[in-house]
Amino acid sequence: MKTPHPKHDFIEVRGAREHNLKDVDVDIPRNQLVVFTGVSGSGKSSLAFGTIYAEAQRRYFESVAPYARRLIDQVGVPQVERITGLPPAVALQQQRGAATARSSVGSVTTISSLVRMLYSRTGSYPPGQPLLAATEFSPNMPQGACPHCHGLGRLYDVDEATLVPDDALTLRERAVAAWPGAWQAQNLRDILTSLGHDIDVPWRKLPKKTRDWILFTDEQPQVPVYAGLPLREVQRLLRTEQPPSYMGTFISARRYVLQTFAASQSAMMKRKAAQFLVGTPCPVCQGKRLKPQALAVTFAGLDIADFTHLPLDDLAALLAPFAAGADADAGADGAPSRLSAEKQLVAQRIAQELLGRIGALTGLGLGYLSLDRATPTLSPGELQRLRLATQLSSQLFGVVYVLDEPSAGLHPADSEALLAALDRLKAAGNSIFVVEHDLATIRRADWLVDVGPDAGERGGRVLYSGAPAGLAEVEASHTRRYLFGSDSRPQRTRRTPRDWLQLLGVQRNNLRGIDAAFPIGCLTSVTGVSGSGKSSLVSQALLELVSAHLGQRAPQAEEEGGAELPPDATAGDDDPGAAASAQDDAGATRGTLAGAVRQIRRLVLVDQKPIGRTPRSNLATYTGLFDGVRKLFAATPAARARHFDAGRFSFNIAKGRCPTCEGEGFVKVELAFLPMAYAPCPTCHGARYNSETLAVTWNGMTIADVLHLTVEAACEAFAGEPGVLRPLQVLREIGLGYLRLGQPATELSGGEAQRIKLATELQRTQHGHTLYVLDEPTTGLHPADIDRLLLQLDAFVQAGNTVVVVEHDMHFVARSDWVIDLGPGAGAQGGSIVASGTPEEVAREAASRTAPYLAAGLA
Ligand code: ADP
Ligand code: ADP
Ligand code: ZN
Ligand code: ZN
Repeated sequence: MKTPHPKHDFIEVRGAREHNLKDVDVDIPRNQLVVFTGVSGSGKSSLAFGTIYAEAQRRYFESVAPYARRLIDQVGVPQVERITGLPPAVALQQQRGAATARSSVGSVTTISSLVRMLYSRTGSYPPGQPLLAATEFSPNMPQGACPHCHGLGRLYDVDEATLVPDDALTLRERAVAAWPGAWQAQNLRDILTSLGHDIDVPWRKLPKKTRDWILFTDEQPQVPVYAGLPLREVQRLLRTEQPPSYMGTFISARRYVLQTFAASQSAMMKRKAAQFLVGTPCPVCQGKRLKPQALAVTFAGLDIADFTHLPLDDLAALLAPFAAGADADAGADGAPSRLSAEKQLVAQRIAQELLGRIGALTGLGLGYLSLDRATPTLSPGELQRLRLATQLSSQLFGVVYVLDEPSAGLHPADSEALLAALDRLKAAGNSIFVVEHDLATIRRADWLVDVGPDAGERGGRVLYSGAPAGLAEVEASHTRRYLFGSDSRPQRTRRTPRDWLQLLGVQRNNLRGIDAAFPIGCLTSVTGVSGSGKSSLVSQALLELVSAHLGQRAPQAEEEGGAELPPDATAGDDDPGAAASAQDDAGATRGTLAGAVRQIRRLVLVDQKPIGRTPRSNLATYTGLFDGVRKLFAATPAARARHFDAGRFSFNIAKGRCPTCEGEGFVKVELAFLPMAYAPCPTCHGARYNSETLAVTWNGMTIADVLHLTVEAACEAFAGEPGVLRPLQVLREIGLGYLRLGQPATELSGGEAQRIKLATELQRTQHGHTLYVLDEPTTGLHPADIDRLLLQLDAFVQAGNTVVVVEHDMHFVARSDWVIDLGPGAGAQGGSIVASGTPEEVAREAASRTAPYLAAGLA
């Protein structure tokens, strides 16, 4: 791609070979909105993030921390010959499934610190109370925390039922589950024996006084320990004052749990301790986490906790008069007060600054959020927009912003605001690089870089780099077909609803007692602007009510093992009330099921969360096809002669795997400033197995060779093995033929993970009677991939299953059987069903903000 242009205006990439990139040379203009397009897996992210952004990062780290050099080398620098004209880069990537530390909208955007300053400097104080410093309005600072609950907002204590889950057990059988295990457990049992307690009677037979003392005492007696001896024997030794094995210190279960939770350095220990804690709201601060003096200070009649609990839209309305110079001391009743001119000026300045920052957020359609909203409850798209808004206020210039599908999670009406924000960043002198599938965004690009033509090995080339119109000439491009509408897209046959699954009186977040009906055996799309209540209805209420009905645990839309934890008292900068709002969302859904409930016998959530968190899980293991492969290896004469069973060929079992990396093929590398990274294992170089295991071959391949095959190649290699072939064929049909069997789960994109889950489900569709729930399944998918996804979901419906999808892609919505549109607005302005019916019916609904876009999608 050589075009004559002034050198300094372009970033020139030469010889890029990261992942599947095929020695790519490309010139990309600066100070433009550049969109990277191509089917899922074609190499867009490998170019934009894996090469350009990674190289900018590497240069940055080299300049600020030369000692990091060795570590950077170990993880690998981007595979690229050279890049010239590269400015500093900022990535605004969506971290799917990444666990976020407990923080809030206010702390992520740093608006919290301004609010604290506002209260400190301009709040109205009770008569006689001295001014407080800004830090005294932070519950995470000892100066500000409520002294009763130490800023947690809740009081955590233990009770017998949680400490001793099974009271039929004896102390020897670990009746006190909260106590530590291993040596400590033995130690405590020996101490109790020395104290005269019988550790072999069931817990419930012990006297209440004894039980209470063991669980709750604050005493920590030191006693002689005669390790491992029975009570009678210990008593004899004590009487005769024999020298003990050692002196041991007793600690009650309560003291142990509280101390571990408060002081342990280990997140795992803390987590374990937290399981035994029961929380109740703090009676002193009512869950607001701050000391009484801080809560006594008001601004516009609100304490700081109530202030940060307001939706940003309301906050902006409240601040506007102050920014215009109103009297901060006037109070909610408008009573006049004598405020010094200086204080009023300070209030004005801070209110103006706050309004600017809040405006960046509301401008991106996030006005329904509050400052105290905990970030783990936000969607990846919301979080990305939060970070984008922070960048908008930071006024950097000369930077490359690299964004990953910013339209994800956005209603077409919201996308307009996002594009306007990107335009402002560009106008400020920055380059905007976006990996995007949304056709409306692609049409707004100044420049397109189309990668392809297909995925994986069949992609990795730059098919086109230039102004959008020029792509029309590029035959090989899939993007061209969709952008210029030369091909008609496949249609599906609509189904007419017969039976309904009804949700009555649903209350959850902003849904206030609504009724909703989902047609059984149909594909339903739930639409609405961001914050209108789609996830509340589908990913929360529907999932919870149906799973409760089926008597199964709600498929978790959160992090693995996402039990509610008390907020971490050691977390970084945080907001008053973040704990209180975390409690709100723990509140369960209210509502009932009605209608053809009996026709749903199974519930499956198909999300884009990674299929595993370590390189240990991969395509082959997740889909179960590896079991068949291992059996084939165990049946070879070479394996039989060595007495190798199928377990020998598992990299999760010690006997066959490489001892250095324990079968991961990678070793973890800890990097200063950077997230955990993986480097190839120095012993097996990624093979995962030890040399004895690798000595066995099946049809000339070692087990490591098999893991290195693509799905497509494996279809040929295992053509004669139906058990292995079937899952492989499903993967190929679903468009994942380019993936390698052993590709670690950590390298798969969200869209790939979702499709693997769908493929695994597709093998089971004969069941029928299953309700599939998907939250924005088109995220990360090129229009060509979306067509394929529609076919797959249609196969679920044809097999008698019900599919409910939260979706923004109007082409997809238009091809559904039924549409439920929520709104009309976000937050308190949303939460109602504006329209429901066939796509045509909803497209005619005047009150629906979705209607005009849906009408376009139907055309
Ligand atoms: P896109 O952004 O176009 O969806 P990617 O750049 O993410 O595509 O992926 C291009 C190819 O590189 C795919 O085959 C993908 O599976 C592979 N890939 C992605 N990440 C990694 C990685 N960390 N290691 C190895 N291969 C990867
Ligand atoms: P959508 O899925 O349409 O974007 P949501 O259902 O996520 O909308 O949000 C609807 C409303 O409920 C918004 O005002 C949002 O801030 C609020 N909300 C959603 N999830 C939570 C939560 N976990 N805690 C508190 N409020 C929430
Ligand atoms: Zn308190
Ligand atoms: Zn190894």
